[in-house]
Amino acid sequence: MRKLKIGVIALVIVLSLSFLFVGCDTEDKKNPPPPIHVESDTLYVEKVENLPEDFIMGMDASCVPSLEASGVKYYDYNGEKTDVYKTLYNNGINYIRVRVWNDPFDEKGNGYGGGNCDIENAIKVGKRATENHMKLLVNFHYSDFWADPAKQMVPKAWANMDIDTKAKALYEYTKDCLQKLKNAGVDVGMVQIGNETNGKMCGEKIWMNIVFKLMASGSKAVREVLPNALIAVHFANPEKVTNYADYASKLAYYNLDYDVFASSYYPYWHGTLENLTEVLNNVANTYNKKVMVAEVSYAYTAEDSDFYGNTIGEGGGVTKNYPYTVQGQANCVRDVIDTVAKMKNGIGVFYWEGTWISVGGASYEENLAIWEKHGSGWASSYAGDYDPDDAGQWYGGNAVDNQAFFDKYGKPLESLKVFGLVREGNVVENKANALEDTNLVIDLNGQILLPEKINAVMLDNSKQEVEVEWTQMAKVEGYETLPYGPIDFDAMKNDGVQKYDIIGTAGGMTAHCYVSMVEYNFLQNYSFEEGEKGWVATPIGAMDELKAEEKSTDSLTGLWHYHFWSQATNSVEFTLEQTVTDLPTGKYKYTISIMGGDGGNTNIYSYVKINGEIVKTSPLELGGYNVWNTAVIGDIDYQSGDEIVVGIYVQCEGAGNGAWGKIDDALLNSVKE
Ligand code: CA
Repeated sequence: MRKLKIGVIALVIVLSLSFLFVGCDTEDKKNPPPPIHVESDTLYVEKVENLPEDFIMGMDASCVPSLEASGVKYYDYNGEKTDVYKTLYNNGINYIRVRVWNDPFDEKGNGYGGGNCDIENAIKVGKRATENHMKLLVNFHYSDFWADPAKQMVPKAWANMDIDTKAKALYEYTKDCLQKLKNAGVDVGMVQIGNETNGKMCGEKIWMNIVFKLMASGSKAVREVLPNALIAVHFANPEKVTNYADYASKLAYYNLDYDVFASSYYPYWHGTLENLTEVLNNVANTYNKKVMVAEVSYAYTAEDSDFYGNTIGEGGGVTKNYPYTVQGQANCVRDVIDTVAKMKNGIGVFYWEGTWISVGGASYEENLAIWEKHGSGWASSYAGDYDPDDAGQWYGGNAVDNQAFFDKYGKPLESLKVFGLVREGNVVENKANALEDTNLVIDLNGQILLPEKINAVMLDNSKQEVEVEWTQMAKVEGYETLPYGPIDFDAMKNDGVQKYDIIGTAGGMTAHCYVSMVEYNFLQNYSFEEGEKGWVATPIGAMDELKAEEKSTDSLTGLWHYHFWSQATNSVEFTLEQTVTDLPTGKYKYTISIMGGDGGNTNIYSYVKINGEIVKTSPLELGGYNVWNTAVIGDIDYQSGDEIVVGIYVQCEGAGNGAWGKIDDALLNSVKE
């Protein structure tokens, strides 16, 4: 009892002190934000013109407390252990975003994960943001766990409420949370009422309930507690071009009081920057609202660092507009800042969870134990009761550790400096930053030629050719790359159909040339999957049907084959041919297959013409339904420049009614000399 009293007194003193602190107008004088000076010798940053002084350079850094509890340490560029929020500020970040879940814990108090981001966590994050001169965006999900376009689950405590009771609960909850932040002296600049609320929110699916009841209640609470804070609504999928016009019109129809229309923008999912500009400008112009990007992120590496697979990255290489490099990450962010700065009423950009890194264990099992205990993975097993379909199935670690601004040891990446450098630009010597992979398909019997130059992506994201020296090769079997050894073209030709990874150096980096050795077919549309394309049929008799046909049960491979049929006696006679030019000089083999019946005495053969003369033929017969006969003509000598025609002649002599047949799978392969 006595102890409790002391606790209460201590609490009152702490609260009074923080009230004093908040109430003090001279705070800026006592604790002025230190000037920021960002320098880099290696990061290329193109200046964003006309960037307002107060443009929001935001960072969602919600997970930090749970990561620190998990043993994560953050450092500055000198390798000194430093408050990560200070490092963010020092590199140009002026706003921190933190998500808030109502009750991300099970009955026994076990956290759901994803940072266990309740209001207490938000207060911790907010205080550190304020101490480091940054404002806070409070991001209410109005759920006990992740809310996004796919799921907007109602908090457990509100599950059985009717909409009016739920709206009242949301109002009171919002007010209570914001009051707590205010009491703690947190500088809340913006409040987000819902997260990626694309037509769902807090278990509701009707716009009237979402906007008129729930969002309006959240908005009212913000205005009452923090009259100077901006109110943001947040949606995703700008690439679906009618989405935002539709959502904004719903907000207007129900007369929602809000200031900022915010969008997620993940470059690998959410369309082009031009489209983003168009859909957000439309909202800004039509309703005179501010707009911003509330979430963006990009990979600095393809590699995972916590034994839990990542959203993007595997497969590596330059698959998108930016390479997965530190510079590529910075270029992506710079371009998004540039895009939003040029929008009408564009106020800023928030990067998503740039501080969420691996908890550092040496194995999956070790990390899993940490994620379960401290909630530092995306979901713990304890979330399974609340979110059985997603968290219950896939709980585990961090799927975005390769999109952070800190490496797996907690050291800041050079790319973090983009937020500071973008204001004045930072032009360094332009050089190769990443190499494009080369993919070749080479005929087993052909010549293996590797490129002497390959495409590099430069620091400024332009492309240039650079010279490459190929040094080693390895077989690739499925997802596995066998050990590398010397490059051996003869071995590649002798080992049959096989994939290789040939590595070399270019611009000081490792280049990859993926080679598939194949039995190359020089005919186009060999299985008639593209209909008649490449083939010429010449009717001699008067057939009722002569055409490419789609019917998988009558095809040797694929869905299509070439079909003939005639009712009239002795009327089937035609040729089917393909002309090929520009083959390399050498020996070739031609193969074609047929099935059919009711043809009487047939005269059927495949043939090869060179420069208009038939040089070789091979006979065929109709063997009945689904009995395929194959003709092979080998030893075809071809000189570069000759015209080669491969074909099939079909005549059904003395046939009764209904001679029919199917032709499929024509192959022209080179033959080893
Ligand atoms: Ca991971």
